[in-house]
Amino acid sequence: MKHLPRVLVVEDEPAIAELIAVNLRHGGFEVVLAQDSVTAQRELDAVLPDVILLDWMLPGQSGISLARQWRKHSRTKVIPILMLTARGDEPDKVAGLDAGADDYVTKPFSTQELLARIRAVLRRRTPESASDTVTVGQLVLDAATHRISYRQQNLKLGPTEFKLLHYLMKHAERVHSRSALLDKVWGDHVFIEERTVDVHVKRLREALGEAGAMVETVRGAGYRLTAQVVLSTGATHKTGTAQSQA
Ligand code: CA
Repeated sequence: MKHLPRVLVVEDEPAIAELIAVNLRHGGFEVVLAQDSVTAQRELDAVLPDVILLDWMLPGQSGISLARQWRKHSRTKVIPILMLTARGDEPDKVAGLDAGADDYVTKPFSTQELLARIRAVLRRRTPESASDTVTVGQLVLDAATHRISYRQQNLKLGPTEFKLLHYLMKHAERVHSRSALLDKVWGDHVFIEERTVDVHVKRLREALGEAGAMVETVRGAGYRLTAQVVLSTGATHKTGTAQSQA
């Protein structure tokens, strides 16, 4: 009795909603459709989904306002939210992330990308194991022994880069602003400039070598560690990570 991950799709455009539903079901998900905020709320009250796919432009209450609302409630705040947006503007993406969305997909999107992003948010939601080892793709960090390896090759990192990588790996696929990273990795050292983060990210990428591409710059928002290098850098750009999965 395998539990299929349940996706609540909040989308008012019937054709798009149907297209998403067909593809998600085919991809092994259970799909619940809601065409407006009222229906979405009713579905949430009934059964909590594993992930919410939320359209930005909805009649009545907008997707972004719904995201904010759900983030405030203890019952719904841990459910990953993926915003669907037709907007390509950077400030809108940042606004979506600020409202509590975990990620966003810009329309028109490929089904492959949508599925990959849903799987990514679900993976990241899996409870952290008791062990000190964190694994993202082929990157493995052992906090107890301070060892890092990529494809079984050991890597050498400075102490700050180690802490930074540890944090990014524990919260992979999520976008972190510079100020959030300063807060989480450096602590309350308010006198450190945000540019410091950029310097250490640069060093981290260099130290990681081939795996450095996993540390993505999200323009206008911050940084993210991702195992989905291919999707974010363009479908034709093959990386070591992608080839190793083939
Ligand atoms: Ca819409």
